[in-house]
Amino acid sequence: MIAQTVIAEKTWSAVLGELQLQVPRSTYETWLKNTTGLTLENQILVVSVPNAFTAEWLEKRIFRLVHITAQKVSQKSLQVQFQIENERTSSPEPVLSSSAKDPDPFPGPDPTPNPRYSFDSFVIGSSNDLAYTAAHTVASSPGKSYNPLFIYSGPGLGKTHLLQAIARKCGEQRLKFLYVTSEQFTNDFITSIRQRTTTNFRSRYRSVDVLLMDDVQFLNGKEQTQEGFFHTFNDLHTTNRQVVITSDQPPYTMPSLESRLRSRFAWGLIVDIQQPSLETRIAILQKRAQALRLSVNQDVLTYIAQRVYDNIRSLEGVLNRVALMARMNNTIIDINTAAKALKGLVQDIQRYAKYPEQVLPIVAQIYNIQIEDLLGKKRLKELVAARQLAMYLLHTELEIPVTRVGRLVGGRTHATVIHAVEKITSDLKNNHDLSHRLWRVKQGLTRTP
Ligand code: ADP
Ligand code: MG
Repeated sequence: MIAQTVIAEKTWSAVLGELQLQVPRSTYETWLKNTTGLTLENQILVVSVPNAFTAEWLEKRIFRLVHITAQKVSQKSLQVQFQIENERTSSPEPVLSSSAKDPDPFPGPDPTPNPRYSFDSFVIGSSNDLAYTAAHTVASSPGKSYNPLFIYSGPGLGKTHLLQAIARKCGEQRLKFLYVTSEQFTNDFITSIRQRTTTNFRSRYRSVDVLLMDDVQFLNGKEQTQEGFFHTFNDLHTTNRQVVITSDQPPYTMPSLESRLRSRFAWGLIVDIQQPSLETRIAILQKRAQALRLSVNQDVLTYIAQRVYDNIRSLEGVLNRVALMARMNNTIIDINTAAKALKGLVQDIQRYAKYPEQVLPIVAQIYNIQIEDLLGKKRLKELVAARQLAMYLLHTELEIPVTRVGRLVGGRTHATVIHAVEKITSDLKNNHDLSHRLWRVKQGLTRTP
């Protein structure tokens, strides 16, 4: 319990630190300074605020920013809920959480797709072309090609964008679609049971041509809701209606869901979105700058794209920040402004780099091996693979010199480290499992205080 509070406090402090860079000082002093992280459980960070005014202001004015920042800081689909301080004892449930439940920009039961998220505005590269093609095919002939379509990737790589693009295209064809996050689904499902309105629930979910379910990983551990989802899914699937599911992990990491849906996946398609290449990142920034009518020099875009590589949301965040800083200081957008805007992110990397030893236990855990074996001399395939991933991460992401990496990972030579870095760099291009593992290690790292 105490540890949990400490984690909540630390996480919220990190979010505050980041917010301080992004909002005017007066906003920070008035609305944010006197807030504290209370608990962090099931990806929900409850934050105490002094009064209802503050809660309301934060909810109305900067909720989306808070949310995005929390996700960026934690590298998870973290949600923030505000709780008024003196109501803490009388109401143990977080209050004012309605919009907090919706990380998506277009909440509500039947959200109209966001015009920003279309197939046209989606930049295609080798990291996402399979997912794009599958989504596009499904939107053009729902229920007739891949059913279900399951898309997974790390955060901020375009899953919601593709789902919304499908929704939009369905709307254009006058098809009945329903876009929901799995949290909305869970709420609907629970409410329908509580209020005995399961018939309504059923007709709402089962009358659609296309069901778009975002972030299914939130059903993890919610057995009854999974059961509800399974029945909904079955009903739709057997009548050739289209189901598209996204998740931050491949289906096999959700055993109970997978075992039930497994036979259905045989008719469907599972695709992932990988980290975008430098060229794709630059293209995304160009497109975004154009949409925002920003005139930014190519060098600046390249500079940003070289430094933010694993999350397009952060990439766009940096561009927004650069634009804001240039506007506030009335200067043009140059490399200097970009460097300043990137400062928070670079500090993050340096923060992990201070404790590179942390990488090793996380890698060991993810490969399910002992740390002694990771550092040892045995040449088993799995051990070698784990060692190489650790060396790659230490060198390329934490920017630790090759010789020091060698020392950290059980005294390997310079040549061994270089070989590992090259091997992983090339394997990451087509080994989905490997990039997923890398992502999980990084997630583990950001969680380590
Ligand atoms: P996810 O749902 O995977 O976490 P999102 O779909 O919310 O990610 O994407 C995060 C941001 O990045 C959004 O603003 C989205 O428009 C943008 N984005 C992601 N992929 C692309 C792409 N290929 N082209 C253009 N924008 C993209
Ligand atoms: Mg999403």
